[in-house]
Amino acid sequence: MKRYIAAANWKMNKNVPESLEFTRQLTKYLLNIRRTDVILCPPFTSLFNIGEILNKTDIYLGAQNLHQADSGAFTGEISADMLKSAHCKYVILGHSERRHIFKETDAVIHEKLLKALEYGLKPILCLGETLEQREQNKTLEVLKKQYDSAFNNVPESALNNCVIAYEPVWAIGTGVVATPDQAAEAHREIRKLVATQYTDSAANNMRILYGGSVKPGNADELIATDDIDGFLIGGASLEVDSFGAIVQSVENFMEKQEK
Ligand code: PEP
Repeated sequence: MKRYIAAANWKMNKNVPESLEFTRQLTKYLLNIRRTDVILCPPFTSLFNIGEILNKTDIYLGAQNLHQADSGAFTGEISADMLKSAHCKYVILGHSERRHIFKETDAVIHEKLLKALEYGLKPILCLGETLEQREQNKTLEVLKKQYDSAFNNVPESALNNCVIAYEPVWAIGTGVVATPDQAAEAHREIRKLVATQYTDSAANNMRILYGGSVKPGNADELIATDDIDGFLIGGASLEVDSFGAIVQSVENFMEKQEK
């Protein structure tokens, strides 16, 4: 059975001591989690030290970005090799904050995805429309454009290592969550894109996460929604109790599915 994911995106929050304290508390909180892949994506400065703690657990480490070059004169950037050596297994790519604030283009995100795969990092590729695009009925067109560009020429053999996150921009950090119907429609369409480019089985195996104002109070309903295979969580991942409660919702759902 496909394992669902609960991934924490801390963005630019938590210094090193705060990150380590959170991680120590979380590992105790999640001792009974067996069915869910939990991923922590802290800021770069905390990666190595958190990785040393997580290496003794079943929780995975992820980064929030990488640069598409192997190395070189790119002041302020970080490479796939550096992330690997800091214990990262996953990397978030194409987050809307990277696309909109830092002007990352589809072409650059594609290069980053290839670089992540080349170094054995698992990309969590974020796709999502703005409110304006949704209101103009362009959601599916936007998702297709972002998907097609990112996965152009990616071989099917690499797909096991890829995760997609549907993150409507209007739901990120706003407290406005997509309705289960809105999320289900987008996820279904993304899965169809994978099936069209590859195969039905590749599409069924692809883990497609929902992100955008996921909280303990809406996680049960969302995780039970068709085609949602887990969450990418921003604000609610900053407290052990709220992130732990969301992980528990995913775990409870998986446990029920097993029966
Ligand atoms: C995110 O930044 O990926 C995110 C989903 O944020 P939030 O949960 O705060 O909406």
